[in-house]
Amino acid sequence: MPSTPCDARKKQGYLFFSPDSSAALKPCLWCKRALAGGEMCYKHQFYGIDSHRCVQMTPTLRCNQRCLFCWRSFEHEVAEEEECQPQIILEGVKKLQKKALAGYNAILDNSVTNERWQEALNPKHVAISLSGEPTLYSRLPELVDLFNGNGYTTFVVSNGTNPGILAKCRPFQQYVSLDAPDSRTYKKTCRPDGDAEEFWNNIKESLSHLRTKRSAVRITLVSGLNDVGPEGYGKLLQDSGATFVEVKGYMYLGYSRNRLQRNNMPEHEQVRAFAERIAASCDYKVRDENPLSRVVCLERM
Ligand code: SF4
Repeated sequence: MPSTPCDARKKQGYLFFSPDSSAALKPCLWCKRALAGGEMCYKHQFYGIDSHRCVQMTPTLRCNQRCLFCWRSFEHEVAEEEECQPQIILEGVKKLQKKALAGYNAILDNSVTNERWQEALNPKHVAISLSGEPTLYSRLPELVDLFNGNGYTTFVVSNGTNPGILAKCRPFQQYVSLDAPDSRTYKKTCRPDGDAEEFWNNIKESLSHLRTKRSAVRITLVSGLNDVGPEGYGKLLQDSGATFVEVKGYMYLGYSRNRLQRNNMPEHEQVRAFAERIAASCDYKVRDENPLSRVVCLERM
């Protein structure tokens, strides 16, 4: 039998919520590190999220962009699928997280305390941000409401190309990616699967909805590609009114290594300097930074 895109992901540690959909979960490195008593990710430092109680998942692996910096493989694309029901995803979260973390439990690994293990089995936070574009899942608003109603806080991380769906979502924190200061750089960096001008206008519309929500704009900075026009970013951020901005250096990881070079990865000092130039052109100030993750957090003044 020919292998499917989901088969390729299974080999990379993805666990699927149902056999016919690409809804998947995979704990991130920080979740496992925190479980073993190590450091937590920058979202703990910036927003108080406990990494070992955070589920990283997506309701779909489909995407409508081909960003050069994306760590996923474009050779293993999910073309069609039967969407997984929100209730099945909700019911599968704890079960799949436990399965994914098996091997880290207190009996097998004495760096994991029983208290942390029990906490990890009862996650409190869902980051809808694994891979793929979550707004391509038609029932995203319902899924977010379901998580909210069952005691989870939620982050939805979107590329912003579907403002209509995004406007209906009520996560704890809404993320929209902004990876260019103008449409020409956007087209080159994010390689949209459709009319670039239309996609760019949709992103601007998604940004314009952020003022009324707890929200963050994520800028993935790639040296020599989109680290231009800080005033352009500043203008778009000013118009968005987002609560936070994360300027994060591109990491030379996964399949992005087939498209970019190691020297496209900016040093933390470069990320910080660019973030300061953005902040100087709009009403945001540097709130915090994490050199290990090469990320600077700006906050609206
Ligand atoms: S939008 Fe996200 S998932 Fe899609 S290609 Fe870009 S980085 Fe990858």
